[in-house]
Amino acid sequence: MRWSFPVARLFGIELRIHVTFLLLLLWIGGAHGLEGGWSAATAGVVFVLMVFGCVVLHELGHAMAGRKFGIRTEDITLLPIGGVAHLERIPENPREEIIVALAGPLVSAGLALVFWIAAGFSGPTLEAETLGLDDLAARLFSINLGLLLFNLIPAFPMDGGRVLRALLAFRMGGRRATRIAAGIGQTLAFALGAASWILSAPVLLLIAIFIYFGAASEAAYAELRSACRGLRVADAMITSFATLPGDARLRDAAALLQHTAQHDFPFVNNAGQFLGLLTRTALIMGLQEVGPDGAALPYAQKDLPSVLSTHLFSHAFAVMQQHETPTLPVLDENNRLWGLFSQEKVGELLLLQSTKNVRA
Ligand SMILES: [Zn+2]
Repeated sequence: MRWSFPVARLFGIELRIHVTFLLLLLWIGGAHGLEGGWSAATAGVVFVLMVFGCVVLHELGHAMAGRKFGIRTEDITLLPIGGVAHLERIPENPREEIIVALAGPLVSAGLALVFWIAAGFSGPTLEAETLGLDDLAARLFSINLGLLLFNLIPAFPMDGGRVLRALLAFRMGGRRATRIAAGIGQTLAFALGAASWILSAPVLLLIAIFIYFGAASEAAYAELRSACRGLRVADAMITSFATLPGDARLRDAAALLQHTAQHDFPFVNNAGQFLGLLTRTALIMGLQEVGPDGAALPYAQKDLPSVLSTHLFSHAFAVMQQHETPTLPVLDENNRLWGLFSQEKVGELLLLQSTKNVRA
């Protein structure tokens, strides 16, 4: 995720913090500090850090359950609205999906129970009368109870939405199950929106918007996943394209940009081996920095991994996302550049496929 940076490694999983999360800490510290000075500011920040510690444990629950089924977790990112565990894929099997989805809320339920006992079974509260341990435990009990209930709402992107989809998937295809679950999520979002208006509770409206867009993006992602299932790089790669020699100037690249339909240009040496990729953005930056006579290769992305024509789309997409590139080089068995795999071509292929589905 952009604008996030790593802070720790837990069980081999990178823990990242989004910059907006630091803003939240500053805000909490500032607001408490204005009221009660340094000690209040420290207490406020420590409390927020403990809350997010609980969130990390919740996400680790998902990650560990995923690991049981051989699914790696790339990282856990903390945002002001909570945590996100990036599992490399969602389990295809509904039973496994339910277990992975429930593992997080199960951790929250366990934490809630522990803090409830520690707080002497007092009711949920977010008010801190004192800065004592009893009050702290009572507040952490309430937070974990809230996390548990919020995540069990049966709407994407909450865990309850995934459980609902998996339950539906037992009876119908995964694609239809996702559509129905997303529809239920969006209906719920509208109901919440109405409730926020009637109760004049703006927080509910925020949650409603979050659920609405979460459901839409989950449905789109599932569509894409099922449309791309079984497709290989060879199905969408272009094999006729312009290349640049290693000693090309930026003016040569600019000429290609003007006279071809390509946006990104690969460099190859005399043996046909891939040297790097010059994207349109990098080309423009080069022209601004050193002008048309400058060498082009220094502006190319040289550490791009390549893919093979036999690789699945899912693999190529993961590589693209990791390296934030719109295009990947496809090499043949002799390590020579054979084709280019780009998001644009994938989009066109899916468009063609959708017309086939309409006619069938
Ligand atoms: Zn969760």
